[in-house]
Amino acid sequence: MKKILILGGVHGDEIGGVMIARELRGWIEGKGIQGVKVIPEVNLKAIEHRVRANPIDEKDLNRLFPGDPDGTVSQRLADEIFNEAKKYDAVIYIHTYGTGGRCIPYMLTDLNKDHNVELCERVGLDYAVQTGGTDKQLFLELSKIGVPSMIIEAGGAEWLKTELEMITIAMKRFIQGAPSQKVRFFNKYRWIPVEESGTYRPNVLPGTVIKEGEVLGYLNEKPVPSPVDGLVLGIKMEGSFDPEEENIASIAEF
Ligand SMILES: [Zn+2]
Repeated sequence: MKKILILGGVHGDEIGGVMIARELRGWIEGKGIQGVKVIPEVNLKAIEHRVRANPIDEKDLNRLFPGDPDGTVSQRLADEIFNEAKKYDAVIYIHTYGTGGRCIPYMLTDLNKDHNVELCERVGLDYAVQTGGTDKQLFLELSKIGVPSMIIEAGGAEWLKTELEMITIAMKRFIQGAPSQKVRFFNKYRWIPVEESGTYRPNVLPGTVIKEGEVLGYLNEKPVPSPVDGLVLGIKMEGSFDPEEENIASIAEF
């Protein structure tokens, strides 16, 4: 069997990923499955503080790969993880959509590499999306050296039971070597920013097919139209909106 590495908690405020990884670890141990390693709490200090980055150096771990053995605490952790991850045949790490938002579960990777396309089909969630490609992320740096790797975006930040179960089931199927599934691939997705701050409420749920001009949500009761035809991957839930920190939605383009 191929060697698989599964990580959760790269970002310390994305507890859903930690929960899924813990569940998988218990299941793997219970079944005595060999060749699969799970690390549910990669960025432990950040998880303890429920923040994205380790508060000591405030560096985003997923922008530091392949890491630096002589760097800050997060750079050293990145180096350690990268050296471990290189030994595997597939590396999957589970993130969740930003705080206050919710997404349909999807796989994010570099689909220009055949080994990643194949990995998406084996994991078999419904949707796979081409990454916009911020450098120095673990999955991109691994892909460059030939290790198939992806992020799974797993619903909301914390306790969205249905989405977490969906991913857990897909991962168990994958670990057991189930046949490839049919996946819808998207080559492009975009974040929908809005300039204004205020009160926001969504008009559609994640997973909605939307046409250009249709209303995504309302900001201060004014409609926010979709700029493209596509599939709503994720959307911010009702609440206050700060354009410095948030986008209204992310859309995979048709
Ligand atoms: Zn994340």
